[in-house]
Amino acid sequence: MSSQRIPHLTSRLQGFGTTIFADITRLALEHQAINLGQGFPDFDGASGIKEAAKAALDAGHNQYARSHGVPALNAAIAAHQRQAYGLDYDPDSEVTVYSGATEALAVALQALCEVGDEVVLFEPVYDSYRAGIAMAGATPRVVPLLPPSDPGSGDKAAPLTTARFTYDPEALERAITAKTRLLLLNTPHNPTGKVFTRVELEHIARLCTQHDLIAVTDEVYEHLVYEGSHLCLASLPGMKERTVVISSAGKTFSFTGWKVGWSTAPAELTRALRVAHQFITFATATPLQHAVASALGAGEESYRELATRYRALRDRLGAGLRELGFSVHVPEGGYFICADIRPLGLRSGRALCQRLPEVAGVAAIPASAFYLTDGAGDELVRFAFCKREATLDEGLARLQKHLSAIRALGV
Ligand code: PMP
Ligand code: GLN
Repeated sequence: MSSQRIPHLTSRLQGFGTTIFADITRLALEHQAINLGQGFPDFDGASGIKEAAKAALDAGHNQYARSHGVPALNAAIAAHQRQAYGLDYDPDSEVTVYSGATEALAVALQALCEVGDEVVLFEPVYDSYRAGIAMAGATPRVVPLLPPSDPGSGDKAAPLTTARFTYDPEALERAITAKTRLLLLNTPHNPTGKVFTRVELEHIARLCTQHDLIAVTDEVYEHLVYEGSHLCLASLPGMKERTVVISSAGKTFSFTGWKVGWSTAPAELTRALRVAHQFITFATATPLQHAVASALGAGEESYRELATRYRALRDRLGAGLRELGFSVHVPEGGYFICADIRPLGLRSGRALCQRLPEVAGVAAIPASAFYLTDGAGDELVRFAFCKREATLDEGLARLQKHLSAIRALGV
């Protein structure tokens, strides 16, 4: 959050300024840095999916789509939810297409929260949630995710082990009040890479049913899981009827710039979501919807290949960062590694990330940008590994070359 007041901006949005991703990408461009900050692949998705987009353009799929999605995509999303999670949704009344998961999340908050309602979520929190909650006039109540006490140890010869962030079940129970309307859950989680376990999801499900809460789940990294397996909260008993499941094509197919997202939710909730969606974007780019429909049809094998590729990239970056002296939280899923900077004699990830592009020619995101609690998470820096091997190697080489200068920052 920025303390600078922006003229004309409503009080609801004061403090939001520019997103950390845009800020750091600007710095990366300015200093020609290797961008391990904003989470986007530096390679293209499958050529067959691009061909499908071109074919859709040529076939004349160029006018407004149906507001809730082109029928082929709604059908492909419903089929995906059935195959992946055994969840049955009606393509016409229970599936909605948006301009990215970002829009779906904002729509869910606008459509489902009254002004003054509370939204419970785990901290660190993906940045758009906080702004979405503010725009809806609601209030966030956070439950901290607790880092493992020994992140990958200092022993460089030991194998990298994954870091399981946990939460205190009582803290979650305390966060729920009479004003709680929604529980917003991101699994696999950005930025920690946590994949919520069955036991945790069962606990969350119990609380949702007990307190009659709606769950909104952000599952954009559903196919990027390296340890354990992704479970959909909606697939637990009693949850489908109260859950809005959100995902998008960006991460799964390596086309983050296409911004095609979706929700699956029971008809009654979907009806509410669509009222907001039709006045926010109305509809999403028509040819890209056709291409994503064909991509979803390609299925399982491509998801497995991508996860295998990313697991190797995660391990490459993780080992390299540990070699440099960071304490590395190896993620169970997602795109990112959070590294603790304290073993390098540094304290402020925010100050470090502001200087890193200039000093070392590498960009990364301060994890503190994901914390609502003042000062929390400042010892963590988030590095993206959704990059080519050569990009990761060059980033690591630059960090190595400038390690003394980085330490000398003394931030
Ligand atoms: N949720 C999370 C957890 C994310 O990391 C991102 C960033 N990709 C989004 C939502 C936004 O997804 P989209 O690009 O589809 O809007
Ligand atoms: N989700 C991406 C990340 O966490 C950023 C997307 C964006 O820039 N809005 O890096």
